[in-house]
Amino acid sequence: MEEIKTAAQLYRYMKNQLKASGIEDFDLESRILLSYVLKEEPFFVYMKPEKPVSEEDVQKAMALTEKRKEGVPSRYLTRKAYFMDFEFYVDENVLIPRQDTEVLVQKALDFLKDNPKAKVLDIGTGSGCIAVSIALLNPACTVDATDISKEALAVARKNAVLNGAEKRVRFIESDLFSGLSDKYDMIVSNPPYIKPSEFLTLQKEVRCHEPVLALVADEEGLAFYRRIAKEAKSFLNDGGFLLFETGYDQARSVYRIMEEEGFTFLEITKDYNGIERVVSGRMNE
Ligand code: GLN
Repeated sequence: MEEIKTAAQLYRYMKNQLKASGIEDFDLESRILLSYVLKEEPFFVYMKPEKPVSEEDVQKAMALTEKRKEGVPSRYLTRKAYFMDFEFYVDENVLIPRQDTEVLVQKALDFLKDNPKAKVLDIGTGSGCIAVSIALLNPACTVDATDISKEALAVARKNAVLNGAEKRVRFIESDLFSGLSDKYDMIVSNPPYIKPSEFLTLQKEVRCHEPVLALVADEEGLAFYRRIAKEAKSFLNDGGFLLFETGYDQARSVYRIMEEEGFTFLEITKDYNGIERVVSGRMNE
């Protein structure tokens, strides 16, 4: 093997390794891992290809490359993910924020324009990406965020602090609504929604590394939508909004669930890939 002395050589090594093991985004992912090790921006290698790298950094980068080849997502390796242009800390206790979920946040922000001081509840907050983004992008609202997992709540709290939103988001350990008593103007949730029968078809990265508790739901993936839509009615003010992210083929089923529970002004919103991704509705309007 050629000796590795510069950033560009290390980048080439990592890229080839990831490519050979079938990692689709090998280019981007090798830059993410490399810039993490060298404490640089993701594009630096194009700017400073000749930057010398130490033997220690080469070892570190190689170790991360091996872990990535074994299937660990690079966001867990760097402990960092981006959502709505904010930076979030992530580890294996929480799902890695997905770009699809930004549509849910965007829709929530649209509705909040008419009621900026709203009280918002995020159920199953995980990394806190939804709750923290809403708090940051709509500075007059207050947000409560729940999760059943203590470990996830610790991550979410850390993310509120990291983004300076800790005074605006309250974190509550709760199995859905069990630990809550207040009423809200808006409830948002990206609950677990993978059908148990589809779990084995998920990528290794997701299946073996992301928390199964945050992924899979009974009743063909619809169990949490049913429970939340039913119970949400007692926790929403009149005219309050309920917004869900749904799986790629679930929006129509979730629409019907909300309809049966009496929600009106039902709407389905597509994500950036044209997939029906968000279902929203209102209480008693
Ligand atoms: N609310 C978090 C997210 O959107 C976690 C979702 C989940 O764990 N199901 O990333």
